[in-house]
Amino acid sequence: MKKTIALIAHDGKKADMVAFVKDHLEDLRQANIIATGTTGSYVLKTGLPVELKLSGPKGGDAQIAALTAEGKVDGIIFFRDPLGKHVHEPDIQMLMRISDLYNVPLATNPATGSLIIKGLL
Ligand code: PGA
Repeated sequence: MKKTIALIAHDGKKADMVAFVKDHLEDLRQANIIATGTTGSYVLKTGLPVELKLSGPKGGDAQIAALTAEGKVDGIIFFRDPLGKHVHEPDIQMLMRISDLYNVPLATNPATGSLIIKGLL
């Protein structure tokens, strides 16, 4: 069955996410891709089909957490900005807690993101 991968990047990491997607385009094409709204709109420009959720601060991380809890997400690639402050910090913490609760792999940087893609796709 097709795997579902969620992509999320904070503003300071969106360029890194686009570069990461370009580096893994052929592998990612084999998966269903979902993403928070703004990240997804950038990723779409690479030509990869993406199902857009709400923007992160408007509940997109919470939507991805809910799908993860329902068993509908196989891996999460979440490039957090370690230098940024985020209004939706509680949602970010929730997503990480849910991924731990359901043992769903979650990568927070390109190195682990590559390992998730190698392992899942
Ligand atoms: P965004 O959300 O892709 O809509 O910017 C990401 C986030 O900050 O969680």
